[in-house]
Amino acid sequence: MLWSLLKILVLVAIVALLALGAGYLMDTQGGVQITIAGTEYTLGPLQSVLALIVLVCLVWLFFKLLTLLIATLKFLNGDETAMSRYFDRGRERRGYQALADSVMALASGEGSLAMAKANKAEKLLQKPELTNLLVAQAAELNGDTKRAAETYKKLVTNNATRFVGVRGIMKQKLADGDEETARKLAEKALELKPKHGETQDVLLTLQTKAQDWAGARSTLTAKLKSGALPRDVYKRRDAVLALSEAKELLDEEGTIDQQERAIEANRLSPDLIPAAAMAARAHIAKGKPRNATKILKKAWEVRPHPDLAHAFAEIEPDETPANRVRRFSALSRLHPNDPETRLVMAELNIVAEDFPEARRALGDLVEMEDADARVFTLMAAIERGEGASDAVVQGWLAKALTAPRGPQWVCDNCHDIQSEWAPICANCGSFDTLTWTAPTKQEVATATGAQMLPLILGALEDKSDEVEDTPEEISDEATILDGEVQPSDTPEAEPRPAT
Ligand SMILES: [Zn+2]
Repeated sequence: MLWSLLKILVLVAIVALLALGAGYLMDTQGGVQITIAGTEYTLGPLQSVLALIVLVCLVWLFFKLLTLLIATLKFLNGDETAMSRYFDRGRERRGYQALADSVMALASGEGSLAMAKANKAEKLLQKPELTNLLVAQAAELNGDTKRAAETYKKLVTNNATRFVGVRGIMKQKLADGDEETARKLAEKALELKPKHGETQDVLLTLQTKAQDWAGARSTLTAKLKSGALPRDVYKRRDAVLALSEAKELLDEEGTIDQQERAIEANRLSPDLIPAAAMAARAHIAKGKPRNATKILKKAWEVRPHPDLAHAFAEIEPDETPANRVRRFSALSRLHPNDPETRLVMAELNIVAEDFPEARRALGDLVEMEDADARVFTLMAAIERGEGASDAVVQGWLAKALTAPRGPQWVCDNCHDIQSEWAPICANCGSFDTLTWTAPTKQEVATATGAQMLPLILGALEDKSDEVEDTPEEISDEATILDGEVQPSDTPEAEPRPAT
């Protein structure tokens, strides 16, 4: 209301000003003198202003005619759309406007509006390479997968938009769970754009899932070449893939090829534990125990691990337990205080029936806060070997039952625990995410949250001291209050030392 009033006021003001200006010009003396072909024309002030306006109009008309003339010439030279383009300027402008509106609608998540605008742009512009992409995106946003698929197929037929089309169909197949077709499409897309990082990742994931290790290795190399992967990461992953190839071959039969792959994997990444163990076994099979020892020592130096110890034992399968203890000192010297080294040495000494030495090897591992089930089990074996009573041995075993399991292969991605190393997590399908570490969740579940261990240990203690303890004292030692066990003896209560 106020706005229209303002507009009227402005209009009135302009008319008043024009009238004032014209009156002023008419009153003014003098004018413009123009000489054309010898004749002199004298224009009054008002006339000269009018003449100027006419001149501007003529120039505008001249340029209009000039562009029409150029369009006609182009048309005559064979450019068939030149004329229609000349007359369709407005149409084109509206087309681009619709295109812009469609992009905006897409960005703001308005699927149906984006679709309507894309359709309009398609009609006005007749540029399918531009509008098809929008139509496909809008269809995806609307959940109209059929229309999207049709449009992607159209994009595939055009050279300029082929990659976009292939990628679009690939994503649809991935969403449908058709990984086989998606993998082929990803390969196709990568042929069109070898440096496309996202497609490289998709293809790599699909290839590892499909256990196409050779294909995955070539994709990994392509990734390195396009600069998307640091060299050390590349080396590690390439080693994992080479090892996977070797593992695959092992399933069939331990061939020479498999041995070579394992040795190659170990060469690429000497600290990859499964590769070192496998390469060592390959060398043992080839009758080269010295090479096996060298590889295992190198890997042990990086990280002591039970798999390495197993492979190390296999180098001399028939040696006496005492000789084995002696031979293992080559490993134990490298990390004498590492828990894994101490566990292995304790185990070997138990087998060799040198129990005091086994106890010495374990040392203070038993008192550690994170002592795991292996430590307590070995302690039980030592006590048994040294002739301790059943109650003492059972005490250690009971502790082992509720102790953490110790390090295992844990997926960095989903924290799933796996019994054996594999290139792909069996739970979430991620590649190279298994790490040898102590899992975070290790508590044994109980119905009431009560800790059973103190009860068991308490009962065992009582059993061994039955003569001294009266029933009343037993009930004092472990009472359950509100589901919590309140033992007088903590789990740390040492089982009797051996005599
Ligand atoms: Zn996982």
